[in-house]
Amino acid sequence: MAHELAAICDVCTRAVADGEGSFWVDMSEVDRCSTNVRAWELLETKQVEPGLHAYDAASLMSYPDAARWRVHHTACDPNPNANAYAVEVHRCRSWADLVWWRTAHLMGKTWLQHTDWEDVLQGAADADGSRISPTSPPKRHQ
Ligand SMILES: [Zn+2]
Repeated sequence: MAHELAAICDVCTRAVADGEGSFWVDMSEVDRCSTNVRAWELLETKQVEPGLHAYDAASLMSYPDAARWRVHHTACDPNPNANAYAVEVHRCRSWADLVWWRTAHLMGKTWLQHTDWEDVLQGAADADGSRISPTSPPKRHQ
C-alpha cells in the first residue's frame, strides 16, 4: 500500500524508503537559537508594565533563525555526527502520524519553538515537494 506521506532527502531530493534515513534536527542548532532568542529579548524588548514586554516591528528582522528540520538518507547525511534528535522516516507515513504521533509528541518538547516545525507542516499542507510531502495532492479548505 502506498504511504500518504513521503520523506524527501534534502541532498538528493529522492524519497527516503523505510529504514534508509530519518528526519532530524541538530540540537546544537536548537541550543544556539534558544540562546540567541534570550539575547534578542534582552536587547530588543522593553518592559511596558510588570509582566508585559513590547518590541518594535522592525526588530523582528533580527529575530534569530529557527533550527531547521532536515531529511536525509543515511548515506546522504552531510553531518552524520551531529548532536541530532532524529526520527526514522517510517514513523511519519500518514497524516495521522504527522498530526498525532509527531506533532502532538513534539509539542511536549520545550525546544520545539526553536525549530521550523511550523514550516515543515506548511510544506506538507502545500505539497511543496520537500521534507515531509504528500504522495497525492492534499485537499485544503480556505
Ligand atoms: Zn539522499
